[in-house]
Amino acid sequence: MKWLKALDWFLREKRIFYKEEELLSPHTTIKIGGQALRTVYPKEIKEFISLLDYLNKEEIPFYVIGGGSNLLVNDKGYQGVVVFTKFMKGIEIFKENEVLRLKILAGTKINEIIRLGYERGFGGFEFLAGVPATLGGAIRMNAGAFGKSTSLLVKKVTLYQEGEVKEIEPKENDWTYRAFKIEGIILSAELELIKAEKEEIRKNLQQVWEKRRATQPISEKTFGSVFKNPPCCYAGALIERVGLKGYQIGKVKISEKHANFIINMNGAKTEEVLSLMRLARKKVYENFNILLEPEVKFLGIEDGCLD
Ligand SMILES: Cc1cc2nc3c(=O)[nH]c(=O)nc-3n(C[C@H](O)[C@H](O)[C@H](O)COP(=O)(O)OP(=O)(O)OC[C@H]3O[C@@H](n4cnc5c(N)ncnc54)[C@H](O)[C@@H]3O)c2cc1C
Repeated sequence: MKWLKALDWFLREKRIFYKEEELLSPHTTIKIGGQALRTVYPKEIKEFISLLDYLNKEEIPFYVIGGGSNLLVNDKGYQGVVVFTKFMKGIEIFKENEVLRLKILAGTKINEIIRLGYERGFGGFEFLAGVPATLGGAIRMNAGAFGKSTSLLVKKVTLYQEGEVKEIEPKENDWTYRAFKIEGIILSAELELIKAEKEEIRKNLQQVWEKRRATQPISEKTFGSVFKNPPCCYAGALIERVGLKGYQIGKVKISEKHANFIINMNGAKTEEVLSLMRLARKKVYENFNILLEPEVKFLGIEDGCLD
């Protein structure tokens, strides 16, 4: 690949940390995925922007990964550049009265935001406790649980869009179920947490943890929900009703705790996950005439892989 040498030169000159042909599996929560040609780890917004400018200008294929917690990567690898946001983290306190206004870099983990809020007596993000996501990934996916979603907290998003940095104050219709509709790479965002008694926040956290422990395979290797819930009902309930709870193909199986989770039993292949997804989709369609849409994102896998 002609562009690789020039990219390496650029990264060295700018002193941006990168690796050659690194395996992606350790960077995903399901622990599946081959090598990317290059993985790059910007540490601050300036570095991130100059890298994005370069990748755009040179038309180099790239993909941004946060916590890798909603991602299936091809075990044959990705012929492009993966940009990790995980070193680009930090929280700045803007205002602290009835609300706590925070400016947060995209690679910051949700749990760090919840912890900072708790320490100062502000809550609102507890519904995502235990979810191994970064803020950028949670905004892009409009991550949610127990009737709440990330959109409720986000006041401003700083995005990189086609060579420009833009600040957006999202409106209600910029959000939808499991997506922030405005395209672009999320660099940072401003969030508001609400004043609350520490004891109340602690109780909320405990309830969320208990519910997750009871209903989800949280200690297994998964990528969270496989399919989006269709308007009528829960995807997991439909998969359970077609008899696939606990069903196994090779080294992957549908969780016995929650049928919308796929577990890597160690050594799973990408194709095994896709086969299980195809089977669940086919059976649910045949039985209920409902076509399940994936919630998980794919990297290095062709569109139409579930057809
Ligand atoms: C145990 C477990 C529990 C989970 N529970 C929930 C839950 O309750 N609710 C829920 O909604 N999800 C849940 N998930 C799924 C997942 O955590 C969320 O979708 C989360 O928002 C993904 O964040 P991430 O940082 O890991 O993103 P990644 O998986 O790294 O990426 C997901 C997508 O976001 C994009 N992206 C990441 N960062 C950026 C950025 N800075 N700018 C633009 N795009 C970006 C990626 O390119 C990709 O398309 C769970 C997952 C696990 C493993």
